[in-house]
Amino acid sequence: MSDSHACDVLVVGGGPAGALLAYLLASRGVETTLIERQTDFDREFRGEILMPGGLAMLDAAGIEIAKIPHIKPRQFRGYRAGQQFFELALDEGLEQLPLSVSQPHLLETLVTASEAHGSFRFLRGAAVRDLLRDGDRITGVRVQGQSGEERIRARLVVGADGRASVVRRKQGLPSRQLGTPMDIVWAKLPWPERFPQGEFRFYIGGGHLLIAFPAGEDGRLQMAWVILKGTYGDLRSRGIEDWCRAMVEHVDEELGAHLLGHISEISRPFLLDAVTDRVQGWARPGSLVIGDAAHTMSPVGGQGLNVAMRDAVVAANCLVPVLRDGAELDEAAARVEFQRGPEIDAIQRLAALPPRVILGTRFFHSWARAFVARAVNTPFGRARALGPIGLFLNGTEEVRLEV
Ligand SMILES: Cc1cc2nc3c(=O)[nH]c(=O)nc-3n(C[C@H](O)[C@H](O)[C@H](O)COP(=O)(O)OP(=O)(O)OC[C@H]3O[C@@H](n4cnc5c(N)ncnc54)[C@H](O)[C@@H]3O)c2cc1C
Repeated sequence: MSDSHACDVLVVGGGPAGALLAYLLASRGVETTLIERQTDFDREFRGEILMPGGLAMLDAAGIEIAKIPHIKPRQFRGYRAGQQFFELALDEGLEQLPLSVSQPHLLETLVTASEAHGSFRFLRGAAVRDLLRDGDRITGVRVQGQSGEERIRARLVVGADGRASVVRRKQGLPSRQLGTPMDIVWAKLPWPERFPQGEFRFYIGGGHLLIAFPAGEDGRLQMAWVILKGTYGDLRSRGIEDWCRAMVEHVDEELGAHLLGHISEISRPFLLDAVTDRVQGWARPGSLVIGDAAHTMSPVGGQGLNVAMRDAVVAANCLVPVLRDGAELDEAAARVEFQRGPEIDAIQRLAALPPRVILGTRFFHSWARAFVARAVNTPFGRARALGPIGLFLNGTEEVRLEV
């Protein structure tokens, strides 16, 4: 095995954090290598809800969302114990909306835009296996590519390789775990004929929450069924047909009948073990972690993509000036956590609250759900709810692309 090449920044992982950072760096003349283990972005399961705070990052980077398949919500409808309790048409106060965006298309767009720059190199279908070191400094990676193993040296290795990050694991970066009381079942169904276009539905009940919404690109209905942690193992052993029959118990009659009628057409079924954690010390000599690799987000509030792309913008702001000047990188890399930490902590705390109320099985949880169901139908209750919703939509800190 030999050293194949060297670059300024080597980004491990072509998810939203890594692909956006690589594009921002390469388009600003930084010699950047992006390594993605999948040969096709569609092969890694990815979330699709993108908040305005993340969309603003793409906009600032010059990536036009209009050219990427996406769906705008038109209304939200909530059900509790099978009865509709809430309806919000989207001309009623939320100006900026989350979108359901095709992540494979988004990532492909970012990579294509990066490839227009001579400073960009993309290794697709190559997995980073280990880190190269010089004393306590990370100096590159060992990669298993399609034509064998190679070593790539870099001034900075950025781990944007998701929740099971190799860059994080190989350095043994310490992390703080936050309890996440749920797991999630994901499945896509053919679109039900009478389900209104652009509708997002919530079915709330003791120990579960089921969300049904349009998938970002293919005209199918995405089901996200949030279940209490601990029931996951049981479901996993039961298989897809049994999951669907269990889901039917939590939706309205019409959607239930649709589910039962289309079990054989369910695509991409997936059980997600929900995790929330935050690495302490994202930057080490020669390395930095961002996105899920630095802070795996609870799925509550659809924040993972959002905060990953906001990390990428802040990382570009911190790194580009020193990379251009050939100055000391470690201090610039350390500023990323300093700037991003407060928003990550705030969002993780905020996201921990709803599952306790929505999924709780005690009497007072049921009382709290009934209270919330009534409150959101009053002008005062709606106004109070818009505060925390606004934080999920736009983030808690101002993030701007400055380079
Ligand atoms: C089922 C599910 C549904 C979700 N739904 C939503 C949602 O609706 N909205 C939302 O905001 N968030 C959602 N999320 C969370 C969201 O997908 C993540 O928070 C977000 O993708 C994090 O982006 P990232 O770039 O940090 O990491 P990732 O998107 O995980 O990307 C990491 C990339 O690194 C690659 N990689 C990993 N290891 C290596 C290696 N050793 N070598 C090379 N490449 C490697 C992976 O293939 C992957 O492409 C969901 C997550 C899951 C699993």
